Amino acid sequence: MKDENFLKENNARHMWHPMAHPADSLENPPDIITEAEGVQIVDIDGHRTVDAVGGLWNVNLGYSCAPVKAAIAAQLDRLPYYSTFRGTSNDAVIELSYMLREFFAPDGLSRAFFTSGGSDSVEVSLRLARQYHKIRGEPGRVKFLSLKKGYHGTHTLGASVNGNANFRTQYEPLMAGCHHIPAPYPYRNPFNETDPARLAQLCLAALEDEIRFQGAETIAAFIMEPVLGAGGVITPHESFMPGVREICDRHGILLIADEVITAFGRTGSWSGSRHWGVKPDLMCTAKAITNGYFPFGAVMVAEAVTEVFEQDRSGKGFIGSGYTYSGHPVGAAAAIACLKETGRLQVKDNAAARGAQLFKGLQALAAKYDVIGDLRGGHGLMCALELVSDPAAKTPIDMETIGRVQRAAYEAGAMVRVSGPNIILSPPLVLTATDVQTILSALDAGLAAAA
Ligand code: PLP
Repeated sequence: MKDENFLKENNARHMWHPMAHPADSLENPPDIITEAEGVQIVDIDGHRTVDAVGGLWNVNLGYSCAPVKAAIAAQLDRLPYYSTFRGTSNDAVIELSYMLREFFAPDGLSRAFFTSGGSDSVEVSLRLARQYHKIRGEPGRVKFLSLKKGYHGTHTLGASVNGNANFRTQYEPLMAGCHHIPAPYPYRNPFNETDPARLAQLCLAALEDEIRFQGAETIAAFIMEPVLGAGGVITPHESFMPGVREICDRHGILLIADEVITAFGRTGSWSGSRHWGVKPDLMCTAKAITNGYFPFGAVMVAEAVTEVFEQDRSGKGFIGSGYTYSGHPVGAAAAIACLKETGRLQVKDNAAARGAQLFKGLQALAAKYDVIGDLRGGHGLMCALELVSDPAAKTPIDMETIGRVQRAAYEAGAMVRVSGPNIILSPPLVLTATDVQTILSALDAGLAAAA
């Protein structure tokens, strides 16, 4: 590692940070994280904090997972790379696809298509959805529907279904034929409806209305996150996703679950779809599939969709999509080890238990601080505090004040994430009751700094 002075002097000077303004990164140099252990990260000044962000919603198993590190090292020694394009495979990816089939069997998903991360998985799922309809003789089904506030990565198709202007405006025009319906977000919605169950019905009615308006025969798929993560942990009422499934079925529209965040235990279930009792047609995964130890992802495909591709003899089923790193043997080895650890530790159960503890603590903070306009979560280890400067008018807090909250929480022992007016918490799923207490008291100190 280069010495401290070199790193501080050159911080953000020769690179652009994603999801940041280059001028801001120069004025407020990013924290330099140099080490991590268990659920903690350590910065260049030796300051140690609980990582309440879990890397970027992905380090479910924490940073010291020895079996994963060993699996990566062994695979690097034996076969660091080979392609899985037509004609070649590798033992790790064969074993991994078998394991994923078992893992996602209750979701009705049987085939895996491997990618290098979440944006790739979204892109592939949308492409496969269009191709599925073409093979079946409905080539007019090319449009996509999605939720406002949804986040689906940054590739062009993904950005087109994204429901947040920040990730769209500067890159427009995006793909035509992508349309958005209101998210089931009780704190702010166009219906002024605060009851989650009634709001779910209104959003479902909006979906039906949009399908009628566009024409069902033009729509390939509806894509949604079971819990909207980056949009601020917007947690739909339990009736919402089953309602979406029913509407999609009735109109021949595929349902794509974007589970880049929610798969592998984050919600307290093995997948967000399973949490709501829904079987999607396609599922996008990434992040915790390798827990941040290697860039990797997989699109899981339902049996009925799989059959359409595999029984095709017209040539339309040829998958003209793929990445140099699809099925990368080192990524596959990392994923195998992660899946084994994820199962051995039953992390979904800890996510449910620690998630309940965290949510209860956050409720107490919400009662204490007026600056918390809305508290969301309550399903596993994903929560958000939406901060407001005027609770009655629901005026979003300014960036400087929320930055102060984050900084004070960091000084007090927890790294939390700021996204718009939200403080987002998505800690590793292996954290302990004591770690939860650390996060809560750090947040207490952080929120006091907003005053
Ligand atoms: N989909 C969802 C739901 C996500 O939360 C993310 C990233 O946070 C993505 C897609 C994009 O994944 P990646 O950043 O790995 O490309």
